Amino acid sequence: MKINYLKLDNFRNYDSAELYWDEQVNLLHGRNAQGKSNLLEAVCYLGIATSFRGAPDPELIRWGEDYFFLAGKVTREDGSRIDLTAAANRRKQRRWRVDGEARTRLSDVVGLLHTVIFAPEDIGLVKEGPDARRRFLNQQLSQLDQEYCRLLISYNRVLRQRNALLKQWEPGREAENGFEEQLATWDEQMIELGSAVALRRQQTVKQLSELASQLHRGLSKGEELALSYENSFSPHEELADLDQCRQAFRSELARVARSEQQRGLSLVGPHRDELAITIDGRPARSFGSQGQQRTAALSLKLAELELARSLRGEYPVLLLDDVLSELDEQRRQEIMRLAVGKTQTFITAVDGDLPPLSCRRWRVEAGRVSREN
Ligand code: ATP
Ligand code: MG
Repeated sequence: MKINYLKLDNFRNYDSAELYWDEQVNLLHGRNAQGKSNLLEAVCYLGIATSFRGAPDPELIRWGEDYFFLAGKVTREDGSRIDLTAAANRRKQRRWRVDGEARTRLSDVVGLLHTVIFAPEDIGLVKEGPDARRRFLNQQLSQLDQEYCRLLISYNRVLRQRNALLKQWEPGREAENGFEEQLATWDEQMIELGSAVALRRQQTVKQLSELASQLHRGLSKGEELALSYENSFSPHEELADLDQCRQAFRSELARVARSEQQRGLSLVGPHRDELAITIDGRPARSFGSQGQQRTAALSLKLAELELARSLRGEYPVLLLDDVLSELDEQRRQEIMRLAVGKTQTFITAVDGDLPPLSCRRWRVEAGRVSREN
C-alpha cells in the first residue's frame, strides 16, 4: 500500500502543503520543531482517524484557524486507488469522504490507508500501564478488521452509558427508579459486544506473539519475547469461544456488582484488559532494561507489519518518527534490513544525524516542505 499524494490545510503548523511522495523511502529532515512529526501525524490520521499522539481533533487545527483539511491518494497492491479526505472543526464536527462520497461511520474509513508508526514514545508500549497497550491493539485491529472497529465503537458507547447509570446509583432505591432494569439492559449489550472484542483481541495477540518472538530473537540475539492477552473476566484462562466468553463475563459482572455501584464505574470488560509482555519469562514492564524494552517495542511494531501482510496480503505504510537515532548501530541495521525497502517508508531525522540511505529527501522548515532530490 502506498500514499502517493498528501494535501494539508491548517493542519498543526502547516497552512497549506501539497506533496507527491516517493513510492519507496522518503526522508524528512530538518531542525527540531519544524513540522516533521506533524507530517507523519497527518498521514497516520488518514489511516486511524485520530492522532497517533492521542491529541483530540481541535489540537490538530492550526492556531488561529477554525478547521483542518487533509486529502490523500492511496494505491493498493492490486492497483486500485482510493481518494480520502478528512476535515474537522473546533466544534468537533468531522467530515470524511472516500472517493468523493461522504462517510459518516468511522468504521468505514479506518484502515483504508493502513499505517504502522514507530515513534520514540512507543517504548511506553512496554514500559507504561495497560492503556498504551490497549490503544496499540485497538489502532491496529481497527485498521485490519472493520467489524472490530464497529464492535469497539459500540462497546465504548455502551460503556459510557453504563458508567453514567452507575454514577446515579442510590442505595436501597434500585427497584423504584428503574435502575436495576436499565442496568440489566446495559449488561446484556456489554457482555455481547465485550465478548466479541475480547475474543478478537485474543486471536490477534496469539498471531502477533508468534511473529514478535521470532523477530525479537533475531534483534536481541536469543531472548524469548512472549505476549499474552489477559481479559479482565478470566485473566489466566484462554477463551475457547464466544459462549465461554459470555459466561465468564456474566459471572464476573455478578461478582463485582456491589463494588461497581459503590464506585460508579464499570470494572470488568475489554477496557480493563491487559496485553502482558514478558522477556525470558519475566514481565518486561518491571524487569526489562531500557534497551530491552525498546527492542521489545520494535519487535512488536515489526510484527504488526508482518501480521498486516499475512492478513491483508500487503504491507502497510511504515512511519518511523525519529527512531533511527534512538537505536544502536546493530538495531539500526536490523530495522533497515527487516522493514525499510519492503514497503513505502517515511523516516524523520534531525539534521546532523541523517541515516545513509538511498531515498527521496525532503527538507522541513517552519511548516514548509521542499524536495531536495
Ligand atoms: P522534533 O525534531 O523536535 O521532533 P518536529 O519537526 O518533529 O521536531 P513537530 O512535532 O512536527 O516538530 O512540531 C512542530 C511545531 O508545530 C511545534 O513546535 C509546535 O509548536 C507546532 N504546533 C503544534 N501544534 C500546532 C497547532 N495546532 N498549530 C500551529 N502550530 C502547532
Ligand atoms: Mg518530531
